[in-house]
Parts: sequence; C-alpha cells; structure tokens
Amino acid sequence: MQTDAVKIIFLVFAFLFGLVIGSFLNSVIYRLPRKIPLSKGRSFCPKCGHGLKAFDLVPLFSFLFLKGKCRYCGAPISFRYPLVELLAGAGIALLFWFYDLSLPFFTWAVLFLLLLPLFFIDLEHKLLPDVLTIPGIFLGLGFQFARGNFWQSPLGAAIGGVLFLLIYLLWKGGMGEGDIKLAAMIGAFLGYPLVLVWFFISFVLGALGGILGMLLFKLKGKSAIPFGPYMAVSALITAFWGMPILEGYLRLAGL
Ligand SMILES: [Zn+2]
Repeated sequence: MQTDAVKIIFLVFAFLFGLVIGSFLNSVIYRLPRKIPLSKGRSFCPKCGHGLKAFDLVPLFSFLFLKGKCRYCGAPISFRYPLVELLAGAGIALLFWFYDLSLPFFTWAVLFLLLLPLFFIDLEHKLLPDVLTIPGIFLGLGFQFARGNFWQSPLGAAIGGVLFLLIYLLWKGGMGEGDIKLAAMIGAFLGYPLVLVWFFISFVLGALGGILGMLLFKLKGKSAIPFGPYMAVSALITAFWGMPILEGYLRLAGL
C-alpha cells in the first residue's frame, strides 16, 4: 500500500517532468528547421513575434487558459504545442510505470524523446536534422552497450542504415539521406533482430498511410507524407511489442 502511494507520487512527477521536456521539444521542433539557435532569446509568438512571459509558457495549462490563442495578437496557437507536451508527459510516465528508474527506462525514454521532434519536423518540413539523428546513433549504441548488447546494437544500426541506403540508391527521390541516418539510429536502439521487425512494420504502416492518404486526402506521389513519421511510430511499436510480434511470426512460419 505504502509503495503504491510512493509509486503514484513518482508517476505524477514523471508526467510533470515529461511536460517540461515536451515544452523544450516544442522549441526544438519550431527552431531547428528554421535554423534559430536553441540558446538564443526567449520564446516568442510565431505570428506577432511578441516575447512570451513565464505565465504563457506553462506546459498544457497556458494553452488551455489562453483557449489556444496568443494573448497579444489573438492568433491561434498550433494544437501541436499541447499535443507534444502531453505525448512527452504520458510517454515518460508510461515508461516509468513499466521500468522504474532503470537502464531500460533511460534507453527507451531517450529514443522516444528523439523520435518525438523528428516525427513532427519531418511531417512539416520533410527534414530529419543531423543534429538529432547522428548523436542518436551514438546514444543508441551507448545505451545498448551499457545493457550488454555489444554486437546486436551495431549490427542493428548497420542493417537499418544499409537497407535504407539501398532503397535510397534504387528508388530515386523515394527516400532522403536523413532517412538513412534515422534508420541507423533506430537500428542501434532496437538492435538485431528487432531491426528487421521494425523494417517490416514501417513499410506496412507506410503502405496503409499511403492508401489512406490517397483515399481521404487525394495525396499522390511527391505530396505524400514523408517516411520519417512511419519509421518513428513503428520504432515505438517494435520497442514495446517487437519480441511478441517476432515470436508470433516465427511460430506461424513453423520455425
Ligand atoms: Zn501573437
């Protein structure tokens, strides 16, 4: 009973901590593709440029209190802001619930907090910044080394990178160089053999998304959604359910 109460208090802290990180990630998502230094100046309204005060920047609550509008010019604030904060808060709390403060917690938390900005930057700008993916490769290798996965992680990174390099070379214009680095990063975190499960799920999601995009939004070819968001979502699916999926597949295949 006592420990349950303590765990719930820590869980609330994990959620609040995640909200604050989410607020920082919002500034990463806005500033990185626009080449505005993260360290430079306070946050400002993208529409009127008015500097924001501490009270305008409380994660989640400011958006609700201001009813999604800038206090100074009344311009609508993108729904992405509270969404990213909520996702970061819920993700960190969920990981803490499953893993406590263990090495797996930090491994998957770091992967999640890298994928979150990559998802939204790629969705909006069709760009996967090197400053996130390249350190991400080394973070993935480092965390998995610390967990004793000395060959699974580099092999995963190599398989992810090479598969996407081949797609990049064979299918001109289909993938960007950023996708290759992101694939190596995800491969480093997931390791072998999960990288193969991830690869498969990415293309299933990508195909479903492509079909839905054509049917619902009449998107086609170049105007379609970039591939990074599918890679990010399938990495999270694989991190949680990769092993059961792989075992289920091997059983079905009679292996
Ligand atoms: Zn404004």
